[in-house]
Amino acid sequence: MEDKFDCIIIGGGIAGLSAAMTLARNNAKFLLIERGEFSGAKNVSGGVLWGEGLSKLVPEYWNDEDAGFERYINHRRLTFMDGDSTFSIDFKSESFNEQPYKGIIVLRSKFDNWLSEKVMEAIEESDYADESFLAPNILVEEVLMDGGKAVGIRAGEEKFYADSIIIAEGVNNLLTRQVGLQNKYVPADALAVGVKEIIRYDQKVLEDRFQLNGLSGMSNEFIGTATQGVEGGGFLYTNKDTISFGLVLSMISLRDSGLKPYDILNEFKAHPVLKDTLKGGEVIEYSAHAVSTGDMKVMPKEIYSDGVLVAGEAANLLMNSGKAIQGMDYAMHSGILAAETIVEAKTKKDFSAGTLKNYRTKLEDSFVLKDMKNFQGAVDFLHSKQMFQTVPGLVCDFGKQFFSIKNEPTPKTREMLSKSVKKHSSYWELLKLGLKGARSL
Ligand SMILES: Cc1cc2nc3c(=O)[nH]c(=O)nc-3n(C[C@H](O)[C@H](O)[C@H](O)COP(=O)(O)OP(=O)(O)OC[C@H]3O[C@@H](n4cnc5c(N)ncnc54)[C@H](O)[C@@H]3O)c2cc1C
Repeated sequence: MEDKFDCIIIGGGIAGLSAAMTLARNNAKFLLIERGEFSGAKNVSGGVLWGEGLSKLVPEYWNDEDAGFERYINHRRLTFMDGDSTFSIDFKSESFNEQPYKGIIVLRSKFDNWLSEKVMEAIEESDYADESFLAPNILVEEVLMDGGKAVGIRAGEEKFYADSIIIAEGVNNLLTRQVGLQNKYVPADALAVGVKEIIRYDQKVLEDRFQLNGLSGMSNEFIGTATQGVEGGGFLYTNKDTISFGLVLSMISLRDSGLKPYDILNEFKAHPVLKDTLKGGEVIEYSAHAVSTGDMKVMPKEIYSDGVLVAGEAANLLMNSGKAIQGMDYAMHSGILAAETIVEAKTKKDFSAGTLKNYRTKLEDSFVLKDMKNFQGAVDFLHSKQMFQTVPGLVCDFGKQFFSIKNEPTPKTREMLSKSVKKHSSYWELLKLGLKGARSL
């Protein structure tokens, strides 16, 4: 088996490409297979790639004129909505203009494609310039097993063999189940559906409207009537001359509501306050994709086995802590750690589970599993009806009183607050919610 690879990576999303880059830099011989026409063709993301991880994978990427990001984040906003009002917490900082950036806004079709070009450059500089490949437009149908060990893959009639396989297939983890690392389908209550529109503006209009300067950008998350009572939230991210605008909706809650995602999205766009922010844009793209809710209970029972590792959202690595969805940074870091483990296994000439379990240890020691464990309570907390209905209603109600000046005696702020609390909830319920929030966030 002369043309056996050190590793075959299934999936050319962020996890797969990050693994590929790491393997190329460490002179491993690998094959990455992506079912889309090119990396990014099948990917949807809101999407902010949080953290500084990219600057380690592609040092000083911001100096690359073609770097696949749209803008960096220096302005964050969280908006509570009821039927006719919005109440926002707004944060903007000059310190966020410094490189490496704390978050970059990406359009995946562009970003993943650019990252795949960077991987190609790394392959060309490696010892296996003619023997490592990125192969798009191929669907992997099966992981080949021999005596319980993963030994290769099958795509149609073609078979390719390797000492190790990294499964980076994203949220629809069919192959992760086939190799026996995930028992069953991820249940619907651990999944959400993301729907997104890309809306184009004249660049100057966009920059003036959102106070953008150079490549600075804004992320805005929404909770409340944005989702018409369905569990979830909305988002708006500024790209160069477009915005990414959409919703993430719990599958179960959506099913129970009988509503259609695009109807909810249209209502969200028509909100009396928001429609002024959005006016004049042209929708140029519409997409939908499943996304994990970040519930650790549905992680694969293990993320390594003889000859195989699982990275990114295929391993259910994602966190929604309320202030951000972190899926891409987790995919990147887990892809890197999976590839580092393969490089160590190659040196030891041992790709058994005994060696590959180091991947689990590395992940446990990293921010990925530390944060997922630490903030698990937040998943539960954020998915309570009170968080996406009661609290936004109460906050907006209070805002309407607090910011109104009438020609009549003005009540004290605590009286206004008390009125809003009684209208939407009770002090006891709020105290319980506050304690739960304090424990989980
Ligand atoms: C609407 C929405 C908004 C989001 N917003 C954010 C955000 O703001 N920030 C954030 O960090 N995360 C966000 N996420 C989550 C984030 O997109 C994912 O967590 C991330 O893309 C996971 O990366 P991955 O590489 O594991 O999987 P993917 O990006 O899904 O990549 C998997 C790749 O594998 C390929 N593939 C699958 N099966 C096969 C096969 N059998 N053969 C060959 N190729 C295969 C696919 O075509 C795909 O290219 C969002 C998700 C959605 C849906």
